[in-house]
Amino acid sequence: METPAAGPSNQVGGGAGPEPSVVHPAKKIVLVVLLVLCVVGVAFLIAFFDSFRHWLALHTGTLHGGPDLYYNFWSGFGSDLGEATLITAVGVGVYTGVRKVNCHTKGCWRIGHHTLEGTPYILCRKHHPNVPTRGASHQHILEQHRKYREAHEVRGTQSP
Ligand SMILES: [Zn+2]
Repeated sequence: METPAAGPSNQVGGGAGPEPSVVHPAKKIVLVVLLVLCVVGVAFLIAFFDSFRHWLALHTGTLHGGPDLYYNFWSGFGSDLGEATLITAVGVGVYTGVRKVNCHTKGCWRIGHHTLEGTPYILCRKHHPNVPTRGASHQHILEQHRKYREAHEVRGTQSP
């Protein structure tokens, strides 16, 4: 997110203020003192307040802000790497899980509950040819069961 080249207002250590319209030397000294106080305050904030690190990394640059060279990287952009890793891991996990349980029809994200006999595919009830897409009444289910039993009993009585 933050780059070391934050802009022209970044140059606080040069002695001259960022404004070119400094007229009186007294004002210039006050300005320099204020800038020094700002830098000291920034240094203290870097050392003690985590919530200011993000802001400081933006305004002081990555290389000159912290106790070591990489401090502002880890407190600025680097702190987002953990989040990015976490989000990626969760996304891959969810994707894998969904790919495992969902309908095998390409582009279908419904959960697949029904295996199609004779094939290795698991299909949702919309794509399975033998599963009704609408809810069946108890009567209808019993009727289907009775037909199934009758078909088997007929087969059973014919085969011996
Ligand atoms: Zn489907």
